[in-house]
Amino acid sequence: MPRNEAGQPTIKSAFVAIHGAAAHTFEVMPDTLATHSEGTQKTVRLTEMFLSIQGESSWVGRPCIFIRLARCHLRCVWCDTTYAFYGGEKVSIGEILRKCGEMDCRLVEITGGEPLLQPECVDLAQALLEDGYTVLVETSGTLPIRVLPAEAIKIMDLKCPDSGECDKNDWSNIDALTMHDEVKFVIASRGDYEWSRQIVKTYDLPSRCNAVLFSPVSDMIEAVQIVQWILDDSLDVRFQLQLHKFIWPPGQKGV
Ligand code: SF4
Repeated sequence: MPRNEAGQPTIKSAFVAIHGAAAHTFEVMPDTLATHSEGTQKTVRLTEMFLSIQGESSWVGRPCIFIRLARCHLRCVWCDTTYAFYGGEKVSIGEILRKCGEMDCRLVEITGGEPLLQPECVDLAQALLEDGYTVLVETSGTLPIRVLPAEAIKIMDLKCPDSGECDKNDWSNIDALTMHDEVKFVIASRGDYEWSRQIVKTYDLPSRCNAVLFSPVSDMIEAVQIVQWILDDSLDVRFQLQLHKFIWPPGQKGV
C-alpha cells in the first residue's frame, strides 16, 4: 500500500483498501456586543451554552464550557442531541466570549449538532483561541476540518455503519489530523467494532493523533463486550464511557 513520508498509508490507498465514522446553564440572549477582535460581531445559531464536566475524550473529567451550535445535516440513529437539529438563538461571538468570561473556566468545547455547518464556527474558535482558551471542537467527521485554526483540538467522529451515516465520512479529514486531535468511533454492534478496527489499522490512526476513542452506544451494546474485543485484539485504542451520563440522569440536557 502506498505510504506518505511519515510511513502512513495515503488516503487514496487506504480508501481503496477499505471500500472495495448541569452544572450551570445560562440563558441565551440575542445580542451584538462591541468587538475586541475581528469577527466577534458575527453571529452563530446557538442551542445552549453551559459549564459542566467534560464527559469524553482524553479531556474527560475536566471542567469545561460547552457551546452547542444548532443544526445537523446527519441523522445518526442513536443521536442523543436531536434537540439541536432545529432552532437556536442568533448570538454574537462577542456575547459568547462575554458569557465564557463569566464562567471562569479556560477549557471550551464547541459542539452540536454539527458545528462546522456554520462557517462562523471558525471565527468563534479563532476568537476563543485569541482570548487564551483551550478550544476543543467536536465534529462528525463529514465536513472538512481543515477550515479550523491549527490550534483548535478536533475531536472527530468517524461514523460507523450502524449509525446509518457511514457513507458521509469525509476521508480526506484523516490527512488533516494533527497530534493533538482525537478520533472517536461510536460502536453499536460487532459489525461496527470490526469496521472500526479495520479503519484504525488501515490508516494507522494511533500514529496520526493523540487518542483513538471507542465508545459504546448506550442501550445497544454492553460496554464489557467492546472492552473484551479490544483486549482480545490488543488494539491500541482508548475505551471510554460518557461520564456525564453517570453523574446526571442519562437524558438530562445542559450537562
Ligand atoms: S452528527 Fe452528532 S448531532 Fe448529528 S445526528 Fe449524528 S450524533 Fe446527532
